[in-house]
Amino acid sequence: MTQTRKTATADLAQLSALNLSDLQGLMEAWMQPKFRAKQVLDWCNKGILNPALMKNIPDALRDRLLTSLMCEPLRLIRRECSTDGTRKYVFALNRPRLAGKMIEAVFIPEEKRGTVCISSQVGCVLDCPFCHTGTQGFEGNLSAGEIVAQVLAIKADLRHEPMTDDLHNDVTHIVYMGMGEPLANEEGVHGSLAILMDEDGLKLSRRRITVSTSGLTPQIERLGAVHPVNLAISLHSAIDEKRDLLVPINRKHPLAQLRECLDAYPLATQRHITLEYVLLDGVNDQAEDLAALARFVNPEREWVNLIQFNPYPGTSYRGTAKESMNQFAQHLISKGIRATVRRSRGQDIMAACGQLKADTKGVS
Ligand code: SF4
Repeated sequence: MTQTRKTATADLAQLSALNLSDLQGLMEAWMQPKFRAKQVLDWCNKGILNPALMKNIPDALRDRLLTSLMCEPLRLIRRECSTDGTRKYVFALNRPRLAGKMIEAVFIPEEKRGTVCISSQVGCVLDCPFCHTGTQGFEGNLSAGEIVAQVLAIKADLRHEPMTDDLHNDVTHIVYMGMGEPLANEEGVHGSLAILMDEDGLKLSRRRITVSTSGLTPQIERLGAVHPVNLAISLHSAIDEKRDLLVPINRKHPLAQLRECLDAYPLATQRHITLEYVLLDGVNDQAEDLAALARFVNPEREWVNLIQFNPYPGTSYRGTAKESMNQFAQHLISKGIRATVRRSRGQDIMAACGQLKADTKGVS
């Protein structure tokens, strides 16, 4: 992504956060014909945020966009490609307060779908000890425009350099599972959801978007009320004493509270809540853990996704052996619980679950 123009102004609106009616309001204020709003939005939807590349708009409007808005809130610093097709993108932020801070997003292609995993914070406010992102501290929340811009940049990259080997070459699904706790950034996440699902925007159905949270229960309720997208919970233990350590937000919102909240979450037809469970050797993979998990799950509405621990430099945790993971899954299945073992993607480029950690010190 090309950087447009650096500005010292902190509060410029970001082009990627505007919908059709916002743009129509701007065109009116700038005495431009109304149809220009749709032209600009069409470029944005293709992943083109640099007005210099918007071929069918006049120079005067290009200049106006460049001086009045932050057109490109991110710039691509690095792209790494895995042998399995997964691409990891490292972006630096352009906004003055977080200028140069870096975030990561991942594109995971399959035959029939392309999923983008996006970040919602620089670092993370929480501190789950097995998570690489959690070790890097918290620098700030991403704006709605910065969250949407990750998706747009990936769309643009896929047009520029398509996938090979019959892998899907567009964004069909979004998961908020990158850096950060999405629901600790409600403003950015709710704002970005509205843009991503907008009829004039990318038109992604709520059934194709998943927000993953460590279990902030009041925020889950608000998400269900405003944008009832798919929900994933970083559970990792169904025993309060263990979860207090693995997912420290459990001390504030313990399992009983989470249970009530999940039972009340509005699910789309034939959709389920995913309970994410990273299996850690000797920590949460014992018989008592299995029994507690089987008691916690509501099989009518929830599936368990068992995740292989992806090691990162400096961690003392070890993943459960593959065979034991399969046995853990089989035991849940024998209790009538739908359980899957997630295949790790992009491990060779540190793009797998829990491995994202951009250098938040930043670049200039
Ligand atoms: S697991 Fe999620 S909530 Fe916990 S530290 Fe990592 S990014 Fe933050």
